[in-house]
Amino acid sequence: MRSYGTIKRVMVTGGAGFLGSHLCERLIEAGHDVLCIDNFYTGTKDNVAHLLGHPHFELMRHDVTFPLYVEVDEIYNLACPASPVHYQYDPVQTTKTSVHGAINMLGLAKRLKAKILQASTSEVYGDPQVHPQREDYWGHVNPIGLRSCYDEGKRCAETLFFDYHRQHKLRIKVARIFNTYGPRMHPSDGRVVSNFIVQALRGEPITIYGDGSQTRSFCYVDDLIAGLMRLMDTGDDFTGPVNIGNPGEFTILELARKVVAFTGSKSEILHKPLPSDDPLQRQPDLTLARAHLNWEPSTALDAGLQKTIAYFSQLLAKA
Ligand code: NAD
Ligand code: UDP
Ligand code: UDP
Repeated sequence: MRSYGTIKRVMVTGGAGFLGSHLCERLIEAGHDVLCIDNFYTGTKDNVAHLLGHPHFELMRHDVTFPLYVEVDEIYNLACPASPVHYQYDPVQTTKTSVHGAINMLGLAKRLKAKILQASTSEVYGDPQVHPQREDYWGHVNPIGLRSCYDEGKRCAETLFFDYHRQHKLRIKVARIFNTYGPRMHPSDGRVVSNFIVQALRGEPITIYGDGSQTRSFCYVDDLIAGLMRLMDTGDDFTGPVNIGNPGEFTILELARKVVAFTGSKSEILHKPLPSDDPLQRQPDLTLARAHLNWEPSTALDAGLQKTIAYFSQLLAKA
């Protein structure tokens, strides 16, 4: 089941999740054969239901913390819960998924001489003291806090990727993904964009943690996936890590106001305590991405929010 002609066999771990399902779709559209691996911890079969039966799509239930023997040409390693609510639910499993998952997928890539991309995160910068964040910033991460299972798991995965690269000459790509939103986020995912939109559409209070002055830079899913695929296609000498995200930075209060305005909701704003170690600010420096991927995001927050609101309106109308 190796490549034939120009068609590549591409594996996506976490392929039934939010980002993974969009990636599987785009890879099939690009003419590749896609093997989607997922244990359905936070992802669902519904996310890829429309791909089942496609001759170039295969779905396999598997937990990446266990070894996997398949034959593929390229690997996108996305398996890992991404919402703080989900990754803190079983923090030991979160670290295992990032660390054991990376070891197994790197072992697989080593045996196959396959190219492998890691979905890392802006969380490797922690609560950053340098702003905006460039890839050469080492970060400010609490190693023992509630977010550490995710942040340190992802940091260790990056270490493993670079050691397999140096020690075993693996072809690696490391993407540091900044907050991404769009259709197919789970309505009870817990992340800010889906929370606010669902709350606004239901007329429930919009829950702002803290005073809402903390910032995030939100990237629309289609832009993000295009960036990941560009990264996979860069020459073998480019490994990253490279930031992929949208530099448009907004306070959480600004986001709430936009969602209320675009939905025409009567929801009020309700302040709740700020979770511990919640980063105060976050914005990607895209200099490296622009230079090496010839890529930058094209969807502004307003346009992306409108599309995401349309998706959730339909979803909630069906429920
Ligand atoms: P998601 O929770 O929707 O998707 C993660 C997928 O991984 C789910 O389908 C889940 O079932 C699967 N999974 C979890 N543990 C697994 C395991 N042990 N074995 C196999 N599958 C497993 O989250 P997402 O937003 O699609 O994130 C995808 C990847 O991108 C994650 O690695 C995440 O850390 C990274 N990322 C996402 C964002 C973002 O804003 N969406 C930001 C930074 C990094
Ligand atoms: N592995 C895997 N699939 C493969 C090859 C390896 O899941 O096709 C796993 C295997 O379980 C191993 C890990 O990847 O524990 C790391 O592999 P590596 O070859 O680096 O180490 P070793 O097998 O020598 O421990
Ligand atoms: N947040 C919020 N209300 C919510 C969910 C999140 O105010 O209902 C805040 C959260 O405290 C954080 C920001 O929004 O400051 C982004 O949170 P998210 O969980 O989406 O992502 P992350 O913190 O991992 O960037």
